[in-house]
Amino acid sequence: MFPTLEPAEIERVRQFGVVRSYGVSEALERVGEVGPGLTIILAGKVDVTQHDTSGRREPIVTYGPGAFIGELAQLAGRPALVDAYALEPVEALIISPDRLRALLIAEAELGEQIMRAMILRRVGLLETGSGGPVIVGRAQNGDVLRLEGFLRRNGHPHQRLNPETDQEANALIERFHIDPGQLPIVLCPSGQLLRNPSEIELARCIGLVGPIDPNRVYDVAVVGAGPAGLATAVYAASEGLSVLVLDCRAFGGQAGASARIENYLGFPTGITGMALMARAYNQAQKFGVEMAIPDEVIGLQALSQSDKDQFVLKLSNNERVSARSVVIASGARYRRLEVENLDTFEASSVHYWASPLEGKLCSGQEVALVGGGNSAGQAAVYLASQVRKVWLLVRGPSLAAKMSRYLVDRISGLSNVEVLTQTNITGLEGTGGVLEAVRWRGAAGEETRHPLRHLFLFIGADPNTDWLEGSGVALDSKGFVLTGAGTDGASRPLETSVRGVFAIGDVRSGSTKRVAAAVGEGAQVVAALHAFLAEAEKPAAVSA
Ligand SMILES: Cc1cc2nc3c(=O)[nH]c(=O)nc-3n(C[C@H](O)[C@H](O)[C@H](O)COP(=O)(O)OP(=O)(O)OC[C@H]3O[C@@H](n4cnc5c(N)ncnc54)[C@H](O)[C@@H]3O)c2cc1C
Repeated sequence: MFPTLEPAEIERVRQFGVVRSYGVSEALERVGEVGPGLTIILAGKVDVTQHDTSGRREPIVTYGPGAFIGELAQLAGRPALVDAYALEPVEALIISPDRLRALLIAEAELGEQIMRAMILRRVGLLETGSGGPVIVGRAQNGDVLRLEGFLRRNGHPHQRLNPETDQEANALIERFHIDPGQLPIVLCPSGQLLRNPSEIELARCIGLVGPIDPNRVYDVAVVGAGPAGLATAVYAASEGLSVLVLDCRAFGGQAGASARIENYLGFPTGITGMALMARAYNQAQKFGVEMAIPDEVIGLQALSQSDKDQFVLKLSNNERVSARSVVIASGARYRRLEVENLDTFEASSVHYWASPLEGKLCSGQEVALVGGGNSAGQAAVYLASQVRKVWLLVRGPSLAAKMSRYLVDRISGLSNVEVLTQTNITGLEGTGGVLEAVRWRGAAGEETRHPLRHLFLFIGADPNTDWLEGSGVALDSKGFVLTGAGTDGASRPLETSVRGVFAIGDVRSGSTKRVAAAVGEGAQVVAALHAFLAEAEKPAAVSA
């Protein structure tokens, strides 16, 4: 986590940075502020610290010559998560984020050392929650869950204080004159206080997302940062294209919600979806991909400017993105259960994925899980390790109909999972948004009532294609995007009915709904992008 560069290595990387001097006690970077970049200490000593909610500074490490200050925030040019102050006069080599990316690519071995240290440092900060926002609210509160889920899915550290048990929480509530009904509140590292913010408000406050340059025209704009979108980003950027990836929620898509992916090539012991997707996300940033997360795309329009095709994406915050080509990788969204009062319980008791956060919330309790596919099977296996009992409710006649054999076998070996086939949920009961009981009807037609606090739904997904309305992109009868031979206009594989607009992954009609298939299409589309962009560059033929 804290390597020291040899003098010869420092000499090699000097060309990427500029030398700066700092006086005693001067800040090299401050929490909540965008720092200058990766900082290699040439002379002197620097104290790196984190501070708690009452402003007390706690030391993390003291750096001397050869050490470097930086973690993933410095790669992306985002606000720092730690403070760094000169203990004595310091001379340092400052490498800005874009030069850092150039260094990582040009100096493979050294780059690996630096990248690994940056990732490990972020993991350390995630474990302690240092440098991130502080959420004040009860763990079971639906909005606290929403905000924590958002930060966790975006790999951003945070802390949570319980107003009933943490003195620091009460100090904050008094300091900002907060009424208990206004909880949760979020204190951002910049000192700004948010009252029950939306995810976008929180993201802006902590610098996760910033304004998009309205004058920039990207080679490729990718809508969706799931496995398909991130694969396109990595391959396109590593081959020299300028890429912007937009996602309305977090990187990783559905795959990021998977408790354990066991069928992705090269991971014989399985890997959590979040770990796999975080690697892809960091890899994309290393190649200079720009990320706009969370930013929602609500429209696509094709323009024709000075004989060159150009596309404009409209965002929900009224911003606009211009690009010479577009890749639709917006995947699918979870299907909801058709039960009258479902939305009443969605904030705190109904869950669409089973991560450690939900596992902790349901620890030691009985839960119900609806679904018969692989994602339901994975969730059942994971939850069984966290909760007292899982009721697995399947509409069909058996688990084997839709679930992979390995999951069916594993579930049959779990004593605390009870599978009920040909069973449907008939009603939900509870008060104040908290579920108290679930009713279901089994094969024999009888209705039973079970006292339960948590319900998990894994009943499939519908394509995220509403935003394509009016764009001219042709969809199939279920709303998935048609490509290649399936459309009138497309001349290349994975191209949609609009020239220069491509579709990949789960959103594409006829695609295989798997991580590996999405990644494969993400890589494959880059060849089609090159061909399209090269053709668009050619001067228009002069008509006779
Ligand atoms: C719980 C679970 C477990 C799974 N486990 C496995 C497994 O073990 N193995 C396997 O092979 N497959 C698994 N799958 C399936 C796999 O995750 C999907 O096939 C894969 O994620 C599809 O990738 P994608 O990039 O096409 O789309 P998605 O993963 O759906 O990503 C699409 C992204 O687009 C974003 N988006 C949508 N609309 C917009 C918009 N308008 N503006 C901006 N952004 C937008 C979404 O927020 C999302 O992040 C699992 C799925 C789930 C839900």
